[in-house]
Amino acid sequence: MKQEWLEGHKARKRFGQNFLHDRHWIERIVRGIDPKPGDALVEIGPGQAALTREVIALARHETAVEIDRDLAQFLREQFLPDELTLIEADALKLNWATVLEGKRLRIIGNLPYNISSPLLFALMSAADRVIDQHFMLQREVVDRMVAEPGSKVYGRLSVMLQYRYVMHKLFDVPPGAFVPPPKVTSSIVRMVPRPVESLEPVDMEVFAQVVALAFQQRRKTLRNALSTILDEEAILRADVNPGSRAETLDVAAYVRLAKEAARLQPHKDAV
Ligand code: SAM
Repeated sequence: MKQEWLEGHKARKRFGQNFLHDRHWIERIVRGIDPKPGDALVEIGPGQAALTREVIALARHETAVEIDRDLAQFLREQFLPDELTLIEADALKLNWATVLEGKRLRIIGNLPYNISSPLLFALMSAADRVIDQHFMLQREVVDRMVAEPGSKVYGRLSVMLQYRYVMHKLFDVPPGAFVPPPKVTSSIVRMVPRPVESLEPVDMEVFAQVVALAFQQRRKTLRNALSTILDEEAILRADVNPGSRAETLDVAAYVRLAKEAARLQPHKDAV
């Protein structure tokens, strides 16, 4: 019988290591993911294989990306090559457009909290080849991701991700489910990319710029917050009230503003 945990492994803070140890929560998370044989499952940060073991039991195979050399070695000893394909790498530096080329991915992970936002943005560029993503993140981050206009936590993360994904918070996971326990509660989020043909075409660079500027000083009116890239007439043409504030606008309004901003930067073609 192989050891279930890497004896003596000290959780590394720099890699955001909090390992799931509680069977109840591990099973509940994997039920939420619902892995099936034939799925092209990619796990980010398998760690000591708490989720990996359950996923492989159901789907028979998984690909995993782990940055920690000691854990990568442990994982190679735990599974047969036809059960686990291990990529020893930094998930932030991976070219997600080419991972398991030709397959549509189901990406999962109890993500290291210190890199969660950059990782979500890195994955967005490969969303057209993703079936779904199930992640455990800090509860506050998930609440921001799924927030609706008018909410205090509705912001840049909500608008940017909701443009590309339909997202649902599944449930919270308490600190006691992990060793060592994190200081905060975690949540599981399901992200399903919207079909490319349903996306309103917009220059993503300009869209990101408009959204960032609008929320940089969220108490300002949009007239003031966006003054460097959009004048009042352009904001009105986007059917947006220049006196309103960033948190009141839905994603569609940001897309309209970005189109107006792109028009004022004529060298940019909408994609
Ligand atoms: N999945 C395991 C679990 O649920 O018990 C471990 C989760 S732990 C919160 C995060 C894992 O991600 C660790 O195994 C850590 O080494 C790994 N990790 C951290 N940064 C990473 C990166 N940039 N790329 C890939 N893996 C990373």
